[in-house]
Amino acid sequence: MEAGKLIIFTGPSGVGKGTLLRKLLTQHPELVLSTSVTTRPPRPGEINGIDYYFVNVEKFQQMVADDELLEWAEFAGNYYGTPRLQVEDLISQGKWVILEIELEGARQIRRTFPQALQFFILPPSLRELEQRIRHRGTESEEAIAKRLRRAQEEINAANEFDIQIVNDDLEKAFANLEAALFVPC
Ligand code: 5GP
Repeated sequence: MEAGKLIIFTGPSGVGKGTLLRKLLTQHPELVLSTSVTTRPPRPGEINGIDYYFVNVEKFQQMVADDELLEWAEFAGNYYGTPRLQVEDLISQGKWVILEIELEGARQIRRTFPQALQFFILPPSLRELEQRIRHRGTESEEAIAKRLRRAQEEINAANEFDIQIVNDDLEKAFANLEAALFVPC
């Protein structure tokens, strides 16, 4: 059986990780995207068990205490984490599993899974990022401000990652992503 792989996608909120990942998963249905647990309330259209497992803070803390999360972090006032069993099972079945997670979670994974392949998705500029977050129209001013502060911190850490991809033009970013992911060995 082929070896499984853990692939991390990190990059500031609003950078378009979701769009790139949806395209990747459509064209490569053999890849699996891990579904995270979060205490953030669902956005309109988000479905429990598909976009996230939406839980309350007590449940999240219990999962942390029971060591059910492979990594977890607080982000803009909410908690997010990766369910451990789901990911470990898939990798042991030889699957390539993608985690779409923020910086602190990526750092935790780097310590426990140093062999994970790590991508950082960059915006063309902070101004463009702000426009994209505002255009989404789902966040309050306070949440936008928090996300932008965090974006700057994350961008400063981009060079910790194996591969950096600027999401200026979707097709170009996607081509770079595919080339890095499916590099012949
Ligand atoms: P959003 O609220 O926009 O869906 O996600 C906010 C941030 O949390 C994004 O940067 C996203 O990548 C990150 N995130 C989503 N799931 C997880 C997770 O399981 N763990 C960590 N550490 N971050 C996550």
